[in-house]
Amino acid sequence: MRIDLLTVLPRIIEGVFEAGVIGRAIAGGRIRWRVWNLRDFAEGSYRQTDDAPYGGGAGMVMKPEPIARAVAAISAEEGGGAKPWRVLLSPQGKRLDQRGVEALAARPWLLLICGRYEGVDERVCEKYVDEEISIGDYVLTGGELPAMVLADAVCRLVPGVLGSADSAAEDSFTTGLLDHPHYTRPPEFEGMGVPEVLLSGNHEEIRKWRRRKALERTLVRRQDLLERAELTEEEKRHLRSMR
Ligand code: SAM
Repeated sequence: MRIDLLTVLPRIIEGVFEAGVIGRAIAGGRIRWRVWNLRDFAEGSYRQTDDAPYGGGAGMVMKPEPIARAVAAISAEEGGGAKPWRVLLSPQGKRLDQRGVEALAARPWLLLICGRYEGVDERVCEKYVDEEISIGDYVLTGGELPAMVLADAVCRLVPGVLGSADSAAEDSFTTGLLDHPHYTRPPEFEGMGVPEVLLSGNHEEIRKWRRRKALERTLVRRQDLLERAELTEEEKRHLRSMR
């Protein structure tokens, strides 16, 4: 998979994915990663990437031409008709969830465009963006952190990036439920033990316990997820009795 990021502040992003699971995936060649400085596509001695808003008002707006030039240059990199899926990070975009992350991870090439100030000129959104994505209903100062959140979530789904130790299969949302609780050594911590079943070595009982705990936790913390989760009749009965 290839991920490109377009930003006026490359320093914020560079180095972030050098360590950890994603760093290993990049070093191992599973993910190709490049950060582009939008100023390199701006003109004039000031390399201006923003300007005052038409109609007046506070703040600055990101100019359309540098973004258009950058998107065209980056999109032409691979040749052979390959084009990136162009994502603009925006609080007004579709809210990112695990299904959205899965859809993005299925694409071979992403170009993440980071806004700043009041955002980007609307004409860029109309012509140079395939999808606007928000990471939640709050406003950050720039699209760099949202782009990194999105990239991290996507990268860990790229085949071969996670070893079995970090497996995504049981993660919250992947199964439609929140994850079950986890425990590790020591067996007793500040007077608290570990559920017996996890020490039993009985894999079938452990699997059932984990599924039951995931159900109970989702019921208590995120009932909304249960409406879409795939549940057996027995699980539905268990939930009814808990309610
Ligand atoms: N005036 C814009 C609005 O109210 O919709 C907010 C602009 S925000 C201060 C500057 C940039 O930060 C945006 O262009 C976007 O790239 C990024 N950003 C801020 N919050 C975000 C969020 N929740 N999700 C994704 N990107 C966000």
